[in-house]
Amino acid sequence: MKKLIVQKYGGSSVANEQRIINVAKRIIEYKKKGYKVVVVVSALGDTTDELIKLAYSINKEPPEREMDMLLATGEQVSIALLAMAIHRLGFEAISFTGQQGGIITDRTHTKARIIKINARRIKEELNKDKIVIVAGFQGITKEEDITTLGRGGSDLTAVALAKVLKADFCEIYSDVEGIYTADPRIVPNAKKIDCISYDEMLEMASLGAQIMQARSVEVAKKFNVIIHTRSSFSKKRGTIIYKGGKKKMEDVVVRAVTLTKNEAKITICDVPDKPGLAAKIFSSISQGGINVDMIVQNTSRNRITDISFTVQKDNLNKALRITNEISKKIGAGEVFAESNIARVSIVGVGMRSHPGVAAKMFEALADKNINIEMISTSDISISCIIKKKYIVAAARAIHDKFGLGGKK
Ligand code: ASP
Ligand code: MG
Repeated sequence: MKKLIVQKYGGSSVANEQRIINVAKRIIEYKKKGYKVVVVVSALGDTTDELIKLAYSINKEPPEREMDMLLATGEQVSIALLAMAIHRLGFEAISFTGQQGGIITDRTHTKARIIKINARRIKEELNKDKIVIVAGFQGITKEEDITTLGRGGSDLTAVALAKVLKADFCEIYSDVEGIYTADPRIVPNAKKIDCISYDEMLEMASLGAQIMQARSVEVAKKFNVIIHTRSSFSKKRGTIIYKGGKKKMEDVVVRAVTLTKNEAKITICDVPDKPGLAAKIFSSISQGGINVDMIVQNTSRNRITDISFTVQKDNLNKALRITNEISKKIGAGEVFAESNIARVSIVGVGMRSHPGVAAKMFEALADKNINIEMISTSDISISCIIKKKYIVAAARAIHDKFGLGGKK
């Protein structure tokens, strides 16, 4: 039986005519090698961002259904152009929208979930020996409304198709060569990682690495879809994302350093130290639809305490308003916010079984005289909140401390 490959090309890989032709050539290489090829493609370049801007210039609160109608057009352009490019090179391709590809989702517009995929048409066309091109990021509800799968959702389309079609390979192409031990723009001696586990990749995605859509990695993990992330501009091997567990992999305690700058910290002073108050504070905030991440409560002196927590910067104003209200209600003191903070994190499955990792990270920061404002841990990551101005120095120092870099 012929091997089947699913390839996904991101927006930057198809940003202009020349790149579309290059992608078409790459696809044809696989076809010539005898693969059945299914291609998922994102909107050209920054099209999605531009469409979003356009929507907001017309209406500050665009209806989500209409948002999906608009955003889905981006991928419809790229699938058609890519199919044309393949035809120009003498091969047969057919493009499908999410609906034609049978991608059925729930009705949560702008972040819909895939319920199932009716791959009948895709399979029929593959059997006619055609290259099948499917629009990423979009689906259709049972009521036949167009939906989108959340930003970066083409990754999810690709992983879900790889699962349903029982693909032998799932390649995710972008403009970077794979997953690195840190963002190479910030840590110049960062190294490409050969293999990484789903858990580490998920943790990295949620802690700031902007490579794969986190939901797509969750789905890959659930169905054990092995992913190869690589660059469409080179032939080099990228990074394999898989379930892990090989001995060699476990030897690595810390796999990567990540950072984010999109959080802000809120502190409520002088909270009476009584049962139930933390519950009150955080239930009001969550009722406002706001996710809280790190929480630190000091030990109380004189039966009052300070509580600090972080929220996404986008939610800061709303979170502050709610926190001020609740502070008055419970008889707490002043509330203040700080947005000049950043988070630096380390990720690695080997941490589970190695003591002293946190201490080593804190030492790296101490050596550079960087103060830690908050700390949080999971079983495979440790994060510190520090002042934003120290983030580059912090990332480099930690990366060096754990010996993650290549030669300088
Ligand atoms: N075009 C969509 C976005 O920019 C989907 C994707 O690129 O995966 O989010
Ligand atoms: Mg895009």
